[in-house]
Amino acid sequence: MTFELNHLLRDIVEKALLLSLLHLPPQGLLERLSSGVVVGDGGFVMALEKRGYVKAGPWTAEASAEHPEAVKQLHREFLRAGSDVMQTFTFYTSEDKLSVAGNGTAFTCREINDSACRIAREVANEGDALVAGSITQCPSYAQGKGKEAVQAQIREQLKVMVENKVDFIIAEFFHYIEEMEWALEEAVKTGLDVAATMAIGARGDRTGVPPGQCAVRMAKAGAKVVGVNCMFDLDTTLDTITKMKEALDAEGLSPFLMTQPNGFHCPGVGREGYLSCPEFPFAMECRTVTRFDVRKYARAAYNLGVRYIGGCCGFEAYHIRAISEELQKERGGKLPPASLKHESWGYGQRYSSTPYLRERVGREYWENLVPSSGRLQPPSHGFHPAPKD
Ligand code: ZN
Repeated sequence: MTFELNHLLRDIVEKALLLSLLHLPPQGLLERLSSGVVVGDGGFVMALEKRGYVKAGPWTAEASAEHPEAVKQLHREFLRAGSDVMQTFTFYTSEDKLSVAGNGTAFTCREINDSACRIAREVANEGDALVAGSITQCPSYAQGKGKEAVQAQIREQLKVMVENKVDFIIAEFFHYIEEMEWALEEAVKTGLDVAATMAIGARGDRTGVPPGQCAVRMAKAGAKVVGVNCMFDLDTTLDTITKMKEALDAEGLSPFLMTQPNGFHCPGVGREGYLSCPEFPFAMECRTVTRFDVRKYARAAYNLGVRYIGGCCGFEAYHIRAISEELQKERGGKLPPASLKHESWGYGQRYSSTPYLRERVGREYWENLVPSSGRLQPPSHGFHPAPKD
């Protein structure tokens, strides 16, 4: 080896050592929640359905193996918008769900979940994000197959996530607290931190267990973070998490709180949430929340004590950016990369070449705007079938 080459190699090694000394270990979920606020990501199934990668009806996540580039791009958009967590796109990906989903996928459950974990890690490493392995309800529960059958499905999913070294687990979109408890029993065995969110509104789970009791049971089952995701809009979700917090306080329990609501206005729905909107799932655009609605939600959630704040179906990257911008101060003053293309409260409009558009700047204009639907005879909201409860 020549002297020059030797010298060059030593230089490289020294620099690598210096960098490793300077590089602080990335903070885990609980540390981040303790010291500030964690911004979640948005919805995958509905976003990818619109883009042509997910089939409505089955709503399964085979795109993670079939079109990894599409899933990766969506993760990147959320990362760029400030998401601190990349949730694996493993929604509904249990063996029992895939076998009845009617999607005719050429990929096995393991292949889909494995690919989803790898994609999430790859994008997380492009920033400072954590990877959450996402597990959800499976048909075995609703089919009455019992605890062992349900837990066998959950274990299969968790195994792939542990092998891929996800940072923590999110058990989400559970309609029944009993099934959630069975899933949590398996999830805590991984030794990873576990977050748990029920897809419920203020009236509780599908059997009528109130949100407060659900929260207490999730915390007692070992979830370090508890809350609500999907199915309901911003206001209903805030109401639900308030009920959860009251019950947890009364029991002397203090897990971190988490909300990832839907990005659609759907007041007055029944226990099954936005499914009863006649527009579900193919014409929900008219109900989409604005980035200003999301700022209001993020502030209200933070004030309630919620420290993991994200979104679910209908939440696109610009909604997540709105959370990051609203909570800039709470996040140590940092703004996400996507804010380089966005000035808060519409101030970018001052560069418009159209005089009256230059006036649409400022919080007062955008916060007080009541958006119209553009349709001649819009119902403010309607249901079919009418919610029964
Ligand atoms: Zn959702």
